[in-house]
Parts: sequence; C-alpha cells; structure tokens
Amino acid sequence: MQQHWINGRPVAGTATRRGDVFNPATGEVGSRVPLAGSGDIDAAVGAAAAAWPAWAATPPLRRARIMFRFRELIESRMAELAAIITSEHGKTLSDAQGSVIRGLEVVEFAAGIPHLLKGEYTEEAGSGIDSWSTRQPLGVCVGITPFNFPAMVPMWMFPVALACGNTFVLKPSERDPGCSVRLAELLKEAGLPDGVFNVVHGDREAVELLIDHPDVAAVSFVGSTPIAERVHRAAAVGGKRVQALGGAKNHMVVMPDADMDQATDALMGAAYGSAGERCMAVSVAVAVGSAGDALMDRLIPKVRGLRVGPGTHPDSEMGPLITAVHKARVEDYIGQGAEAGAELVVDGRGLTLQGYENGFFTGGTLFDHVRPDMSIYQDEIFGPVLSVVRASSYDEAAGLVNDHPLGNGAAIFTRDGDAAREFAHRVRIGMVGVNVPIPVPLAFHSFGGWKQSMFGDHHMHGPEGVRFYSRYKVVTARWPTGIRSGAEFVMPTVS
Ligand code: NAD
Repeated sequence: MQQHWINGRPVAGTATRRGDVFNPATGEVGSRVPLAGSGDIDAAVGAAAAAWPAWAATPPLRRARIMFRFRELIESRMAELAAIITSEHGKTLSDAQGSVIRGLEVVEFAAGIPHLLKGEYTEEAGSGIDSWSTRQPLGVCVGITPFNFPAMVPMWMFPVALACGNTFVLKPSERDPGCSVRLAELLKEAGLPDGVFNVVHGDREAVELLIDHPDVAAVSFVGSTPIAERVHRAAAVGGKRVQALGGAKNHMVVMPDADMDQATDALMGAAYGSAGERCMAVSVAVAVGSAGDALMDRLIPKVRGLRVGPGTHPDSEMGPLITAVHKARVEDYIGQGAEAGAELVVDGRGLTLQGYENGFFTGGTLFDHVRPDMSIYQDEIFGPVLSVVRASSYDEAAGLVNDHPLGNGAAIFTRDGDAAREFAHRVRIGMVGVNVPIPVPLAFHSFGGWKQSMFGDHHMHGPEGVRFYSRYKVVTARWPTGIRSGAEFVMPTVS
C-alpha cells in the first residue's frame, strides 16, 4: 500500500477507498493507493499552513541552497526514479530518465530564486521619495498532476513555488503515484523543513476538497481539458489564483520543401514516443501538396517497424498504454476513424507480445486522408495514432492549426525562412517549433498552451512560474525632515 506524505513523514491516512496501480507491461496490480477524504486533506493543508510563516520568512538564499542539494539528490537517484516511473507508467526507461532531467532543470532554475525575486527600485520617484517593488509568497499552493509525467509535471510546479516561499500540497495522479513520495523524501533529505511539501493521493474527491479548502491560496492543475476547465472555474469562484493546463492536438505542418527524411524521423519520435501519451505529442501531420506522398512513403515502413515492448527492455521504442481502459478507448477511436472513411494504413490494434499477453500494449497506428470533421482529428486520443491530413497550400494548413480548439503546440518543417516566420507569428498556439517537432520550452522559459489547452493567465515554470507563485507589492517611501507642508487634499503629482 502506498502512503501519503504529510508533515515530513509517510502517513497511511484515514480514507477507506483505494485505487489499483498497475504495471502496464504485465497488466498486474503492482500496488494500491489510498484515495484521500476530508481528514487527509485537512491534515495536509493544515501542515502546509502551519509551516508557511517560518518558510516564507526563510531568506531566499537559504531556500535556494535546499534546491541545490535537492538537485544533487535527484541526479544521484536518477535511475531509481526512472525505474519507478517505468514500473507504474510503462514508458521506456530512457524516456523516463529524460523526463526526470527536464524536471531537474526546473529545480536548477528555482535555485536562482534570490535573483528572480529581486524587485525594481526608483530613487527620487518624487522629491525626496523612493519607490521599490517586491514579490512575496502566496501561502499554501496546491498542485494537481496527470499520469503521463509523474515526476516532470509536479517538478514544473513545486520547485518554483517552494523557492518563492510558498508551502505545497501535491495531489499526483492516482494511476502512477509512486514517484511523488520519493521526491518528498529527497526534499526532506535536502533539508526542507517538515510540512513545507506534502503529498496526498486521491481522485476527484481529493481535488474538490483541495480547491474548496479555505487555507489554499493557489491551484496549479495539469490534465485533460474538461477537468482543467472545471478546476479553473471552481478555483476562481473560490477566489484562488489558478492556472489549469489542458489537453492537446498538436499539428506538424510539413511543407513540400522540407527535408523529408528529417521530417519523417521527427514525426516518428513525436507521434509514437511514450506511446503518444504526451501533451506535446504530434498527433496530426498536415502534409502540404507533394509532401503528402513523400511523407507516406517514408512513414509506412517505419510505423510497421516500430519496436513495441516493455519499458524495461533496452530495445523497446514504445511501451504500453497506462491502463486497459485507456487502451480500449484508443482502439475505439481507431475504429471510428476507419468507419468515418479515413485510410487506415497501419493498424496497431490486436498486438500481443509473448510473455506480456496481459500488458496494455497497442501498436503504432497511421491514418492517411483524415478530414477535420472526423473524431480522430477533433479529439485528443492520447495514444500512438498519427493522422495525416492533406492540404493544398500553406494557408490551408495554417488555417487548420488555428481553427482547432486546442492550442498547446505546433510545428512547421520547411527550408523557407519566410514561411517559418509567418507561421510562428500567425498561429494561435502557445509553443511553436520550427523544424523542431516537440517544442517544449526549457526551464528558464515558460510552458503553456492557448485556447482550450490552458485556462488562466500564467504559464508554468520559468519567469511566468515566478509571477504565478508570488504577489507583487510596491512601496513608496519618504523620510521627511524640516518643513511640514500640512494636509494635502489634491492628487499628488510630480511637478
Ligand atoms: P486527467 O484530467 O484525467 O487527470 C488529471 C488530474 O485530475 C489527476 O490528478 C486526476 O486525479 C484528477 N482528476 C481526474 N478526474 C477528475 C475530476 N472529475 N475532477 C477533479 N479532478 C480530477 O488527466 P490524465 O489522464 O491523468 O492525463 C492526461 C491528460 O493530461 C491529457 O489530456 C494530456 O494532454 C494532459 N496533459 C496536459 C499537459 C499540458 O501541459 N497541457 C501536460 C501533461 C498532460
């Protein structure tokens, strides 16, 4: 049985509801997770609220030094963290390790917090008056995270939140919760005081209790669009600061002048890496003009040759899906696409692996001649399914990107700088790649989508993360000596 982490120690909790955590490669239940109710939520938020005054008063440099030590600990435990992720999520070990490194980069960013929290100062803002700005922490912040990046997505949030002087309650995905408590143990080993970082496991009930809790100041959410929208609305109504990142349907436009071999390799990794369970996965390739046939000729043999296997096997390029239910959902979409008239060129359904017959595996699927009215085009499938849409011009391709309700990432592959610049400028998308299929910003920039891919104002980590997790204050001061001018009843101005 997995445990919560409250006030610096593992806690069994009081809830009687439990969830199964599967090993997706074997289909077996690897462990069970407690699903928190109000007692556990009150305990976690209470611990975070009690720890906040002392943590907020801790100098930023001391908070940063804990981040430095945490960074070293993550690096030394990298293989262990990746193994936990693979055992519960299914992705390959190398991919799991890559995701931990991307999280670690946010810790490195957060270690620079003394510089990032520095305000601005104006001497002589008025005669004998100085003015300066400062950023102060919010209080107890909550993070609610999805299954697909059990280490990285929490690490988009809590290193910045903690470094800014907030305390934190993480509610990780109940489908792969193991990594979160390991990270909590490492934070404690790095010197983080008890109560500053807490983990409660749970599902919808825990999320709703956290959002409604009067002692919670801010909510960060990453997950599917319908839930992101709901979380955003509920938290905003409760007067909390909120950022809620949702789902994606990322398009990659391939122009006829692109390097087709490079574009094909980019599509293979971006569509089928992590079995398509990435919010920055490319699930639609928009092939412009002659790019269509050139791309299909190259893609078909590669998709047929995908090496699907357990994430622990060094030869596997793609692991299983997260659950049997999700596998059934992905394969149902494949049926819908075929029925709607898309050309099912490679069908990944029905894959069975010797020795892993009960694992949640599906093969790579490739559709050609997909149309925008089909469900496989409109919906986020979150599996290894690539839809190729044929477009006759650049304008038509860019129009598809802009008309889709989701706006997380998009890429263009071309050798034409003019087309690339126009694309980057014009598309209504949060993260754009030029000859880069998965344009995930590094930690010192910020991550987030547009349209139905994000609700709220601030993207995550980087400078936007610091803005989200701190409150702006400006101080205007004078130290009058000599003449007292008496009461002033007009708006003060600088003359
Ligand atoms: P999900 O929306 O099912 O769950 C996300 C979190 O919300 C989990 O912690 C879960 O316990 C909780 N939750 C589930 N149902 C809830 C409900 N009814 N009310 C309140 N909370 C609820 O998402 P998932 O399946 O874990 O993750 C996949 C989704 O996350 C995909 O849509 C993917 O695109 C998205 N995602 C987005 C980003 C991004 O940056 N935009 C990053 C990673 C994943």
